[in-house]
Order: sequence, then C-alpha cells, then structure tokens
Amino acid sequence: MNAPNCPRGHGPMELRTIDKPMTFKGVEIRVAAQAFVCQTCGLEAGTVETAAELQLAIADAYRAALGLLTSGEIKALRKSRRLTQKEFAEQMNIGIASIKRWETGTVQSPSMDHALRMQLQCRNHSDNYSGNREISLARIKLVARCFEKILKARLLKEKDWFLYLAKHLWYADFLSFRELGRSLTGASYAAMPYGPQLNNYKELVPDIKDSDTNVAEPLSDEEMRIIRKVAERFPTEKSVFKAAHKEKVWQERNIGALIPYSCAGELTEI
Ligand SMILES: [Zn+2]
Repeated sequence: MNAPNCPRGHGPMELRTIDKPMTFKGVEIRVAAQAFVCQTCGLEAGTVETAAELQLAIADAYRAALGLLTSGEIKALRKSRRLTQKEFAEQMNIGIASIKRWETGTVQSPSMDHALRMQLQCRNHSDNYSGNREISLARIKLVARCFEKILKARLLKEKDWFLYLAKHLWYADFLSFRELGRSLTGASYAAMPYGPQLNNYKELVPDIKDSDTNVAEPLSDEEMRIIRKVAERFPTEKSVFKAAHKEKVWQERNIGALIPYSCAGELTEI
C-alpha cells in the first residue's frame, strides 16, 4: 500500500494500528485496525483495503461481545468440515451470498447463529473443542461447587457471568484433558478480551446455574485430584485471572476464537 499524502498538505501519511473504543449497534467494543495518519495534524484516512479490514474488525468485535460466531470461526468451522461455501450453503438451504457475507463481515442474526452452530459443530469437529466429552451443564455446576468447597468461597453468584469462575473451569478442564485424556465438563472455551471464557457463555451461564447437579456423572477420585490441584495452584479469583492472562494459548488467539484442547500441553502456569 502506498501512503497517501495528507489532504491538508503535510506530506505522506503513516500507516498505523489504531486501537479505540467505539459503539456499534448499541454495543461498546474495542477495535484495532490500520489507518493512515498524518503525523502533523493527526488526520486519519482509510483506503479501500483498510476500510474493509475495519468493517470486518468491527463486525467481529461486535459478534464476540454478543457471543456470536465470528467470521473467522464460521470459516474455520466450515473448513474443518471440508465444505466449500457452495456445499455449505446447500446443506443450510440458503444462498451462497449469505455465507460469503458472514465470512466477510455481515453480522448473522442470533437465530441464524444457532443454525450455523447446529450445522457446523458435528461430533468429529467438537472433540478438539470439548475434550472428548459431551458438554454437561450439570457437571460444570458440580465442578464449580467442588471449587467452592475447596476454596471456601462463593463462586456461583447472582448476576455473575463467570468472569473468574470460567478461568478455574478452564484450567480444570484442560488439565484433566492433559492428564486423563478427557475434559471434566465437555465445555468449549473461547479467547475473550478478559481471558478464556465458556464459549457462548451468555446462553449457558443461566442454564448452568439452574441445572441439577444430581443428574451429573459423579466426579472420580482422579478428577477430584485435578480440581484440587488447580484450586491449590490458584487459591483466589485474582490469582487464576492473572495466570490465565499469562498463557500464550489465550494471548495468541483472536478475540472470540475457540481454544482447542490440543493446546493443553502448552499451558505454562500449571
Ligand atoms: Zn496533515
């Protein structure tokens, strides 16, 4: 990309990454995108390329904030199923133009997001994101209750979106996968701005709180050992939050991207 000149006559502009908070469709998001900036007067100008990049960054930040699949996730899920856009559109019974738009920055509706997940998250694919176990909301609650007992703290709180609890769950699930070959809860985790979080947490958290732990498969001694190990390593909400932010497997993922269980061996804090 050739740098354009500042229209105010200050000479060539400089390509910079601009990270700023903004509001999109009423949701506050942060977006990092490239733009040309005049070093003299600060004027920002985009090009066709930077404008397209910005549109995608905004759409993806918005989707991540709402717990919707991002364009990258839709594309990655489709490719993991080895489907072309055309094949995928036929399976979904929709036009190929819609697939193209969702993969390049148009935000899908929540109901379409649900349909996309249903179609794309087949058994084979989900294993690397569920740790060889079918997700059990009751078991997530059971593991949370175990942490509460060991840490002598209330973790399942009202009006709480598992900002901290999700980190304890994440470490427990990933450590269990690493040591026992299977996650504890079958939960998928996404790289959110505030660390690893249950994928689709806005939909799941209320149902987890409402679930009945009696229907969950009881935890084995080995699984209890995993939970104790995580609790001893990270005895407070702050310590687990801090540790999770040091993990490269979270740092290196795009916002909203799923963290595969195959990364469990790369954790550095436990
Ligand atoms: Zn200027």
